[in-house]
Amino acid sequence: MENMEERLVSAVEQTEDTGVDRTLRPRRLADYVGQTRVKENLQIGIQAARQRGESLDHVLLYGPPGLGKTTLAHIIGNELEVNVKITSGPAIERPGDLAAVLTSLNEGDILFIDEVHRLSRVVEEVLYPAMEEFGIDLVMGKGPGARSLRLNLKPFTLIGATTRYAMVSAPLRDRFGMVHRLDFYKPEDLQQIIARSSQILNVEADAEGLAEIARRSRGTPRIANRLLRRVRDHAQVLQGGAISKEVALEALARLEVDDLGLDQVDHQVLRAIVEKFDGGPVGLETVAASISEDADTVMDVYEPFLLQLGFLERTPRGRVATRLAYEHLGLKYGNTKKGVESPQLPLDEEAQ
Ligand code: ADP
Repeated sequence: MENMEERLVSAVEQTEDTGVDRTLRPRRLADYVGQTRVKENLQIGIQAARQRGESLDHVLLYGPPGLGKTTLAHIIGNELEVNVKITSGPAIERPGDLAAVLTSLNEGDILFIDEVHRLSRVVEEVLYPAMEEFGIDLVMGKGPGARSLRLNLKPFTLIGATTRYAMVSAPLRDRFGMVHRLDFYKPEDLQQIIARSSQILNVEADAEGLAEIARRSRGTPRIANRLLRRVRDHAQVLQGGAISKEVALEALARLEVDDLGLDQVDHQVLRAIVEKFDGGPVGLETVAASISEDADTVMDVYEPFLLQLGFLERTPRGRVATRLAYEHLGLKYGNTKKGVESPQLPLDEEAQ
């Protein structure tokens, strides 16, 4: 995990983001840039819930880290004027922990569970009746004398977030009334986000400078805000303050972020597949081992954007580097160690 902690373009929250992330977080739906379809659906849900005076349906948000899941949960809370309680799958160890959280909620409150796919089975089982009927069943005593006691909860809204939709169990998934996937942001959207951030942070920046930062932010607001802060440091120390296109380009080059937002680790991943494994297919574990990372990190943090760029393909037999990846690395496609014409391509039907 060493790499990740140091990594400038990681979508995962880093120590330097804490606090700042919060300052830069939009508070109303109107200030939440992009993700139009999700926003429209939530807007309708929120309005309907308000009109009926009921709690909002449970919402499941999924997508790569840094795209605004936590931000949305806070915004929904603001729009509904209710409290938002934040916790995460791994933090709720025992059914009793969950029962304690649930009973502390006021009517209409939001419970946000990050990494909801990591809830244990026994905890999930407490969640089902809570979500469906706003009740929890407590078992009092042990053995033949044990009695079950139903505890009523105040209606609440669960917002679950996950980077791994496929790992959310089917019974849990079915209990969410709304399921939304967040997508990577377009450069224009990211530019709008950092234009707002630069005002909040009191940084002078022109549109071209912001556009350069936005283009290299891997479709991820958290990274865009982080790069903005780093470029600001460079601008301040080396150029007297303002962020222009030239300043941005120079700063990003020094920070070793390439023109697509890839850093040394991405290059290592791609080079490992291309140079050590003839372009693939190569198993995820092997890729991870070759850059001394664990497989989960590679899958959650490094791969999504490389897949989005079309540099990598996931096939049943492993990861394959595409022609685009070779071109980006400045390597000739097909010019592999074995001297074959092209790297092995995925078997089509299986790969679909
Ligand atoms: P996630 O929970 O998906 O990992 P967060 O909600 O913590 O991501 O978002 C990370 C940061 O990115 C937030 O602090 C916020 O400043 C910014 N951000 C995310 N989405 C948006 C958006 N749609 N508009 C503006 N800023 C955003």
